[in-house]
Amino acid sequence: MHEMSIAVDMMQQLERIAAEHGVSRVERIELEVGVLRLVVPEALRDAFSAVAAGTVAEGAELDMVETPARARCGACGEEYPVQVEEYLCPRCGQAAGQILAGNDIIIRSLVCDSDGGGAAHEDQGG
Ligand SMILES: [Zn+2]
Repeated sequence: MHEMSIAVDMMQQLERIAAEHGVSRVERIELEVGVLRLVVPEALRDAFSAVAAGTVAEGAELDMVETPARARCGACGEEYPVQVEEYLCPRCGQAAGQILAGNDIIIRSLVCDSDGGGAAHEDQGG
């Protein structure tokens, strides 16, 4: 289950952000999850809650938003949306040269309590 390695990676990012911003507790994490990573949300929640136990992010809520995938054709430069099992360029039929989006797990924003009265990692979208 690769969700565990994703959770470990997230936790490393969170600890760095928490250290930079004097965060004492993370309450909520907004996460962009690329569809190509094939993450099972429940599995990621379970993995993260295990990894986050005893850290600033213990008990934090995960808010996952799926990011659609995009690719750029290496042959003709066309940019197009890709499906999980369909990587071919619709214009020239070549395999995708470069995945532009949909293959990343990105921490978009955090809701935190800070020691120093500092702001959260990013502005909250709503
Ligand atoms: Zn093409």
